[in-house]
Amino acid sequence: MSATTFDINRERMVEEQLIPRGISDPATLAAMRKVPRHEFVDDAMGAKAYGDHPLPIGAGQTISQPYIVALMTQALGLTGKEKVLEIGTGSGYQAAVLSQVCGKVYTIERIDSLLVRARKIFDRLHYHNIISRIDDGTIGWAAEAPFDGILVTAGGPEIPEPLVEQLADPGRMVIPVGGQDVQELQLVEKLDGDVSVRTIEHVRFVNLIGNHGWSS
Ligand code: SAH
Repeated sequence: MSATTFDINRERMVEEQLIPRGISDPATLAAMRKVPRHEFVDDAMGAKAYGDHPLPIGAGQTISQPYIVALMTQALGLTGKEKVLEIGTGSGYQAAVLSQVCGKVYTIERIDSLLVRARKIFDRLHYHNIISRIDDGTIGWAAEAPFDGILVTAGGPEIPEPLVEQLADPGRMVIPVGGQDVQELQLVEKLDGDVSVRTIEHVRFVNLIGNHGWSS
C-alpha cells in the first residue's frame, strides 16, 4: 500500500513536533505514528490535522495539539497492560492513542453529541479496548476503579478528590490545574500510600465542568 499524504504528514508530525521536544517513549511514539488523527476531525479540517496546534471539534471543544497528547501519554509511564481512565473523550483521539499503549481505556464525556461521534470512529477503526460513558468525569468511574493511570483532558480549579481515590497504588494521573485561561499540567503520583504532585508543562485547556470542576 502506498503512503498517503496523511501518512507522510503524520510521520513529519512525529519527527518535527514530538521527538525534538523530548517525546522519547517508544510506545508513545509508535501510537502517534499509527493513530490516524485526521479521522477524528471534520473532513474540512483534515488538511490541518497534523499541524502543531489544537483544532475545534464542535460544541465549543478542541482536540489537543499533538505534542500535548504525546506528552500526557508519555507521562503516564505505561507498559502495555494497564487500565486507564480518561476524562473528556472529545473527538476520541487521545483515547485512541491510549488504547495503543495500555490494556483497556475507560473514557467519560459530558457532551452526548461528542461521545456519539467518537464511538462511531472507535467502531469504524476497530478500537475495541475503549469503553465509554456519558457522565461527569470529575466523580470518576467508581465501579471500575482502581485505575493504573488517569488522564484528564480538560482544565479544572483543583485535582478532583474522587480521582485521587480511584488511582491505583502505584499509579499516575496527568491533569491540567489552574485558572480558566492557563493551567499547569500536573503529574500526580501515588506510591506506597503517598501522593506527590509536580508540574510538567504550562498548558491551555477547555474547562473541566462538573461537581469537582468549574460550574460552567
Ligand atoms: N481528549 C479529547 C479532548 C477534548 S477537549 C480529544 O482527544 O479530542 C475536553 C473535553 O472534556 C470536552 O469534550 C469536554 O466536553 C469534556 N469535559 C469537560 N468537563 C468534563 C467532565 N466533567 N466530564 C467529562 N467530560 C468533560
